Amino acid sequence: MNYKLSASEIRELIVAKLSHNFGVTPAEATDEHYYKAVVLILRDLMTEGRKEFIDQAEKENRKQVYYLCMEFLMGRSLRNNLYNLGLEDAVSSALSSMGLKLENIYNQEPDAGLGNGGLGRLAACFLDGLATQKYPAMGYSLRYEYGIFRQKLVDGWQTELPDFWLPGGAVWLQAHPEKAVTVNFNGHLEERWDGSFHSIEVKDATKILAVPYDMMVSGKDGKGISRLRLWAAKSEEFDMKLFNGGDYLRAMERNAMAEVITKVLYPEDNHPEGKSLRLSQQYFLVSATIQDIIHRHLRTYSSLENLPDLVAIHLNDTHPVLTISEMMRIILDECGYGWDEAWDIVTRTVAYTNHTVMAEALECWDQELFKRRLPRNYQIIEEINRRFCAQMHDLGLDGCQVGRMAVLNDGIVRMANLAVIGSHSINGVSKLHSEILKETVFKDFYQVMPDKFKNVTNGIAHRRWLNQANPGLASLVTELIGDGYVYDAAELKKLMAYKNDPAVLEKLKKIKLENKKRLAAYVKQQNGVVIDPNSIFDCQVKRMHEYKRQLLNGLHILSTYQWLRENPNADFTPKTYFFGAKAAPGYYFAKEIIRFIAELGEAINKDPAMKDKLKVIYLEDYRVTVSEILNPAAEISQQISLAGTEASGTSNMKLMINGAITLGTLDGANVEIHEAVGSENMFLFGMTTPEVNLLRQNGYNPYLCYNNNPALKKAIDEMSVSGFNGMKFEKITQNLLSTDRYMVLADYSDYAAVQEKASQVYKDQTAWNRMSLVNIAQAGRFAADRAIREYAQDIWGASPVKGEITR
Ligand SMILES: *Cc1c(COP(=O)(O)O)cnc(C)c1O
Repeated sequence: MNYKLSASEIRELIVAKLSHNFGVTPAEATDEHYYKAVVLILRDLMTEGRKEFIDQAEKENRKQVYYLCMEFLMGRSLRNNLYNLGLEDAVSSALSSMGLKLENIYNQEPDAGLGNGGLGRLAACFLDGLATQKYPAMGYSLRYEYGIFRQKLVDGWQTELPDFWLPGGAVWLQAHPEKAVTVNFNGHLEERWDGSFHSIEVKDATKILAVPYDMMVSGKDGKGISRLRLWAAKSEEFDMKLFNGGDYLRAMERNAMAEVITKVLYPEDNHPEGKSLRLSQQYFLVSATIQDIIHRHLRTYSSLENLPDLVAIHLNDTHPVLTISEMMRIILDECGYGWDEAWDIVTRTVAYTNHTVMAEALECWDQELFKRRLPRNYQIIEEINRRFCAQMHDLGLDGCQVGRMAVLNDGIVRMANLAVIGSHSINGVSKLHSEILKETVFKDFYQVMPDKFKNVTNGIAHRRWLNQANPGLASLVTELIGDGYVYDAAELKKLMAYKNDPAVLEKLKKIKLENKKRLAAYVKQQNGVVIDPNSIFDCQVKRMHEYKRQLLNGLHILSTYQWLRENPNADFTPKTYFFGAKAAPGYYFAKEIIRFIAELGEAINKDPAMKDKLKVIYLEDYRVTVSEILNPAAEISQQISLAGTEASGTSNMKLMINGAITLGTLDGANVEIHEAVGSENMFLFGMTTPEVNLLRQNGYNPYLCYNNNPALKKAIDEMSVSGFNGMKFEKITQNLLSTDRYMVLADYSDYAAVQEKASQVYKDQTAWNRMSLVNIAQAGRFAADRAIREYAQDIWGASPVKGEITR
């Protein structure tokens, strides 16, 4: 069966699924039944498509790419797969012939929120880029029962509700219990000599079963299809001894302890807690995955010597870096290779992407915890560390430098160092970030092994974020330049020819207005606030974190509010500010910032004097599906992190391709956005990275900024002294005026000035729409397709399937 199905064929398939799988007639079926029936049809198609694709890949001896990540922030999948398989129209007519709307069926699907933010969304976008370009690939992660928490604000304070996504989400997953593997924890080591053959075995380990659940992700046109394999923890065997002995409760308890490993996603972003359960999750992912990969390879080749030629294993951040020791363990202990041969295989297969330079985000484990939980891996890491340190001493490095590079030091295991030592490539995720890596966290390594260091700037799945999320804009683009950009986003550059075409600029504006109305309707329904679609839509949507500086935005809104109260008749371009952000549940200060912004919004939105001028909307429970509504409506994209702190950012790319103009610092990929569009098509402000470093060296004095800017002083004073909505925010102002590591006040004046400039430019709608068009035209370089090609060429040595795929 190929994908070219007619509406009537689809209708028949739907009726059959409803009957066979749910025992209902079309008349009895609910929207949820229909949603699931359509998903099951797609699953069948993609399973067949994947098989044909992989058969062809194997015929051509293509390298397989395995992308390991603790997070895949997939969002919804139905629209994406229908779009890619070219089945949207047929399914839509089939459903409408049965009296249903496809849009309502889409809304039955919960977000698969198996990630926190940018890191997990990147992994999801990469599955799309891999599939579309026909690289045979698998993503590996955990099948968390609970994804990222649902956020609810209660009087401005973030509360967390569980995200039990499986009832609606599991229909995408195909369980493969026959492919389950066992993962060992704890136990003690026993050494053995068989003649001259030395081996090590772990005795009395706690055994936990890893059961794979597979989800297919189609590329455009369905020729290449990626598979995401999610592992679920099951207790290896129900303890019949305990059970028969009458200890029913203890037997159940043991079951529950095993299964807790994949119960819930850690809701932390750029800040690990170092907890035992998290270490268990990481090892569980890694051990199950590496067993799976090695078994698959051995079934065909019965040797691991050619593994680096046929397999690329990619570690997305340090979370899956135990891959290095686990691969060593399997190759040494289970396959009987010697150390040097094993090490050669591992390091030629594994590559690592770093996602942060912030010291507190570099993962470390307590050595004692690690040793107890993973004794054999610990022993292997000791040996990796011993050999590496000896090698560095031999090169003539001094003891301090070797100490900084060691994996084991001071009672901790340093995952980033293990990653660099055990992989053949390490890359940052934007040009600036990759340079900072070489100058700071990995400086010592860069001196010794400069060739390992690379850059691959992040990218987004432009078909999802432009074509699917913004069909109005996509059809204008297609009308102007054809549909080549769907496959090669660089073709968006052809839009530059329309830069001075008033009719095109006018159409662009109309499309934006429609999208703003759609967002306004969502806000009315969710927040009960009426907003003006003709005001400037100014958006900052990303995780709540001090380094991202939502506070800078909030302070300026407060100051604007004060100014409008005092100048009620002044000329002012109406503005609506949007925030969407979750804070890690234990990150108290971030929750304070949420409360500040939410309360500020309350005060402004209910103030009759601000009507038609200023609104502040806090979008609760910001997630992929909300992002898909917001991006097409956005006009200003706030990317205002302190220079040198944001690795790349990807919301900047999603907003840009939807025609929003970046108001930002020269940080992360903003630097490359600036290269692409020039200063005249962007609102740049703030210190550069060297200026930040200099200020830090010379001593940052926030009081100077506070005293030199009366408007800023007034805003801070209102926050701390009088407050608003009956609340004061002294903790925040104290921090801003003392130890603020992200130097919010240092960039304040410049930020306020550039905001003013944006409002002025907005008055000239033609000029604004031209800037918007240039941004769309230049956004092609930030496609995930481009990023994947760079990984394939520069890092994995992988090439796409060439042969005909008939569907
Ligand atoms: C893209 C995306 C992010 C990442 O935003 P940054 O600005 O890069 O931090 C976070 N959350 C969601 C839901 C996203 O879609």
